[in-house]
Amino acid sequence: MGYVCAKCGKKLKAEDGNLRCLYCGGRIIIKERPNITREIPTD
Ligand SMILES: [Zn+2]
Repeated sequence: MGYVCAKCGKKLKAEDGNLRCLYCGGRIIIKERPNITREIPTD
């Protein structure tokens, strides 16, 4: 499971004690959920 920067939306590999975006320097990192972007077909 990875992490996503809440500021720029880049995917990050957050390691211990390194919860910071490498791209924009943002410190708001959210956990990436595998099922959160699933589109549900409405029949
Ligand atoms: Zn960022």
